Amino acid sequence: MKKQFAVIGLGRFGGSICKALSAEGMDVLAIDMDEHKVNELAPIVTQAVIADGTDEKALKSLGIRNFDQVVVAIGDDIQASILTTLILDDMGVKNIIAKAQNDYHAKVLAKIGADEIVHPERDIGVRIAHNVVSENVLDYLELSDEYSIVELVAGPTINNKSIVDLDLRTRYGCNILAIKRGEEIKVSPYPEEKILTQDVLIVIGADKDINRLENRWIDEEGNA
Ligand code: ATP
Repeated sequence: MKKQFAVIGLGRFGGSICKALSAEGMDVLAIDMDEHKVNELAPIVTQAVIADGTDEKALKSLGIRNFDQVVVAIGDDIQASILTTLILDDMGVKNIIAKAQNDYHAKVLAKIGADEIVHPERDIGVRIAHNVVSENVLDYLELSDEYSIVELVAGPTINNKSIVDLDLRTRYGCNILAIKRGEEIKVSPYPEEKILTQDVLIVIGADKDINRLENRWIDEEGNA
């Protein structure tokens, strides 16, 4: 059976989640207090309803308990976001994903029953900062406080070196998950695989090791 999602709060974040899920062919119930926001999304989602997330009765009548995942994407009104999450947890919603405005908000959401907390503004900030600071880094995904996955562009001096030659695992504690070469992507590349200039390497590791790697990516002798 198709998974059923509900999204409460249709700002930029909630709205894009609705669009992305609908594009994947999922069933989406979109909820907002603001009629304009609801009307905007109505043509895209399965059902769009004007309702207040803090109104327990309204949520009950929508059968919110039966949804596989409910996303609380209320932003500025932290009180409404907390109250909505609390009500959903109380009603027995299986999986609640809540958007946090800051770390305190996140802590409260975790305590009152959010199963997953997202910090879109903070995450995008970290991502942009990382991309701006390091010219080799194309993209960046934080897995936890300590670990990340990054996309690094291979410079000319490591051209034609194999993964064994580079020995990133021993020297930097990092692993190459995949190599992107134009349209082609080699997942779990063999140790003998040669890296070419302009290849994009998808590397996983501890942040401190990735930072070392980025800083020494290409030294004067051309050693990675
Ligand atoms: P974004 O960055 O995603 O645009 P934001 O941080 O600016 O969001 P808001 O615009 O404050 O967040 O809230 C997102 C949406 O949540 C708005 O469309 C707002 O109408 C809706 N919203 C706020 N409170 C409630 C509530 N109690 N019930 C339902 N929707 C709500």
